[in-house]
Amino acid sequence: MVLDPATLTVAFVLLSAVLGTLLIFSWVLNRKVKALAWWGSAFWLIAVGIGSANLAQGQPAYAVLLVANALALLCYGVLYTGCRIFNGRSTPLTATLAGVAIWIGAFPFIYSSQGYRLIVASLITFAYSSLSAWELGRHAPRPLASSRAAVVLLLGLAAFNLSRGALGISLTSVSWIDTFASRWSPSMALLLVMFGPTLAFMFLSMAKESVEFEYRQAALVDPLTGAPNRRAFMENASRLLARLGNKPASCLLFDLDNFKAINDRHGHDAGDRILTIFGEILAKHLPQQSFGRLGGEEFGAILPLDSREAALLADQIRHAFSTVGAETLGGLVNVTVSVGCITGAGVDAGTLLRRADAALYQAKRSGRNIVIAA
Ligand code: GH3
Ligand code: MG
Ligand code: MG
Repeated sequence: MVLDPATLTVAFVLLSAVLGTLLIFSWVLNRKVKALAWWGSAFWLIAVGIGSANLAQGQPAYAVLLVANALALLCYGVLYTGCRIFNGRSTPLTATLAGVAIWIGAFPFIYSSQGYRLIVASLITFAYSSLSAWELGRHAPRPLASSRAAVVLLLGLAAFNLSRGALGISLTSVSWIDTFASRWSPSMALLLVMFGPTLAFMFLSMAKESVEFEYRQAALVDPLTGAPNRRAFMENASRLLARLGNKPASCLLFDLDNFKAINDRHGHDAGDRILTIFGEILAKHLPQQSFGRLGGEEFGAILPLDSREAALLADQIRHAFSTVGAETLGGLVNVTVSVGCITGAGVDAGTLLRRADAALYQAKRSGRNIVIAA
């Protein structure tokens, strides 16, 4: 079978335009993932860039070479910017446009040499592909399987561009290598025809996975304090207790004192602020998976500690809250917490919580701002 470069080019250009449209369409359906619009635009830019450079008859003119390659390089800048936006990071326009600016600046000096043009363009695309892989690999705020696959694809793209740049200076007389290094060969077009849809599919998967991740987070995290909610807490606690088997575990149950009165006197916003402060103190003293907001002004923690260690930790938290609370709120409000503390082995989370609740009741009856370990 003879692969015709012109046919493959048409296929690549049309395919890129379709993929770009599909990515933009899925952005329209889900405006939350703005990166989809950037990636869709990148596919359109490469379609127009490659299309205008290769579909012209004969040797392309100065302006065509300049503009077509500028569009292709802008595609890479936009691709990289999409990756940063996907990670929720700032998007300096200078980074998006740097490649194009270098190309336009260098073009008058490299115009006459196909080798130099190839080297400059390849180095820029190599840099953008590597940066995109670095962005998705190193700055991902959420662990997504499809992001890791995209990193592999982008590293492949970086290697492809680097090797093309290197081959541009050393025509080897090995026919397939020289074909690969030439302006546009059937094997290269075929490779790109397969690569484009794979990358676009991975971008769509990343968007889908990130939205699912957000929903899962929302179902498990208390929006006010950022602490795990009751459901997440019970799941984490059950997992810990199953792992511990018959080894002892301690449950701390915290209830802020006279919170209703604080709300009544200082307003609901002040109450919210105090809840946030308490959540921060718990996060500072306890592992993330060990505690949660059970509801209202009640928080719980289950830890692999014996009763003495648990009571000590509970008292540190009680003390920290009254100090930090007084400092942050400027002594306007006297904030304290009562803690019920219980240790057991081989019991489930619900039983531990019920027993800790009895201890907490004792703490309230003893005058509050105290740890009672039963
Ligand atoms: P005690 O010392 O006996 O625990 O008294 P208390 O006033 O803290 O207990 P009570 O159960 O009577 O009141 C709890 C209050 O917590 C009532 C409710 O308005 C307030 N509360 C619950 N959730 C929130 C919230 O998300 N924000 C604010 N600001 N207040 C809340
Ligand atoms: Mg309460
Ligand atoms: Mg209370």
